[in-house]
Amino acid sequence: SDDLSPSPQIAYDRLLGGLLVEGFDEKSCRSRYQFAHYQNSPSIPSPYLIERLRKQEALQKKCGPGTKAYKEASKQLKSGQSVNVTDCNYLFLIIHAGLGNRMLEITSAFLYALLTNRILLVDRYKEIADLFCEPFPGTSWLVPSDFPLNNDEFSQSSPESYGNMLQNKVFGENTDRSLAGNRPPYVYLHLDGIYGFHDKLFFCEDDQQFLQGFSWLIMRTDMYFVPSLFLIPAFQDELSRLFPEKDTVFHHLARYLFHPTNNVWYSVTKYFRSYLAKAEKRVGIQIRIYETKGILQRNGPFPHILNQILSCAQNEKLLPEVSMAEGAAAETQNNQTAAGTQNNRTIAVLTTSLSPWYSDEIQKKYDEQPAVDGITVKVFQPSHEEYQRSRNKKHNMKALAEIYLLSMSDVLITSGFSTFGYAAQGLAGLKPWIMFRSENHVIPDPPCGRAMSIEPCFHQAPSYDCKAKKDADLGKVVPYVRHCEDVSWGLKIV
Ligand code: GDP
Repeated sequence: SDDLSPSPQIAYDRLLGGLLVEGFDEKSCRSRYQFAHYQNSPSIPSPYLIERLRKQEALQKKCGPGTKAYKEASKQLKSGQSVNVTDCNYLFLIIHAGLGNRMLEITSAFLYALLTNRILLVDRYKEIADLFCEPFPGTSWLVPSDFPLNNDEFSQSSPESYGNMLQNKVFGENTDRSLAGNRPPYVYLHLDGIYGFHDKLFFCEDDQQFLQGFSWLIMRTDMYFVPSLFLIPAFQDELSRLFPEKDTVFHHLARYLFHPTNNVWYSVTKYFRSYLAKAEKRVGIQIRIYETKGILQRNGPFPHILNQILSCAQNEKLLPEVSMAEGAAAETQNNQTAAGTQNNRTIAVLTTSLSPWYSDEIQKKYDEQPAVDGITVKVFQPSHEEYQRSRNKKHNMKALAEIYLLSMSDVLITSGFSTFGYAAQGLAGLKPWIMFRSENHVIPDPPCGRAMSIEPCFHQAPSYDCKAKKDADLGKVVPYVRHCEDVSWGLKIV
């Protein structure tokens, strides 16, 4: 049957409150209209967001690959001469990094494109098409293969970067950066990793004004820079209209943009139905370890992290209590038989990790214990890839499937700092319990804390006050942009 719903009798909103439109071929991308089966959103997108998405779709179609407008714009880009701003202006995103980062960077770039009336085109070489279906009807978001610029050439030292052009006074000495003289055909925005003071001026209002004069922007980023867009006065009114509930930006845009391809979706739904669907409660635990134990043992095993996971889950009453002491097994046998005669309730724990050790140990702890109140805890982990291989297609497909499986949880425990976890919580619309990073193998106290909002954290947020022209605490400017729980210097929307 085509019906993959865990509860087919419940009506569901396949268009996600109007985020999606009818008319796509269902068979070639089943996740698009089936996602709603597996997930209850806590929030309804605003009518204005929906209106703007439809406008953006029209623009993507009018200016996208294969159109006269695109041919003209890419010809001008190739000629190296300055390109006149027309109705069709472009943002080309260079994609890289891990899956979580990619989802955050694409979402940020899309929102920026929408705010500045540009069409978004993405890098076609990073197997994006193997992972995600096309989001816009009647056009493609993949940049054509004859795109005149070579994305590998862009880095912090590129002379075309906004930061370098400012430093080299390419736009003249004028502080208003008037476009006198030879205007370059495009500007490269380097918002990646360790970026410089001048690159960060991207987040200033005057610079945004200036960038409007360019038909082509090339962006390389690995960040969720949306919180800093909320600090640019020129965007604030529009953002409030788009997102009356401010902390739903990633939630709505990610569900709008990302639709896993059939292969990925098949493994998600199959796994869900086989192991998770029947449970009384689904607890997702995302275990991402940044500590090392020598080069070979990147993910441990670290007993202190196992303790952190168990303490967090039990303190917060997400999982039943287990004794942390060894050898409770013998006494347990009898009790288990007693409990077995009671009802048969299951909590399904979905763990994701590069290592199998943590989930094995969690399962052992619960197997050793009597089932409290007749509740059985079953631990499931779809893969253990051991280490990150971001250039491997199969590896990335597994990672994506796991982000989606995590997002189908009822409650989530995530590892701080990890964009993999941010993507899952954002899709789910859940405020996770964040496990804080341990230092020198010591678990922080408390081991975890509840997130303030479902939004991802912008790790490399700038701290420059553009008006005052000096550094400032940007976590205190507006009430809805704060420092993150897990990354004290980062910013997030709450
Ligand atoms: P971050 O590094 O935690 O911020 O998350 P990213 O998703 O950007 O990069 C981590 C990459 O490592 C993922 O994309 C996967 O390739 C891999 N990875 C990390 N944790 C897991 C996991 O739990 N499951 C799988 N399948 N892959 C993982």
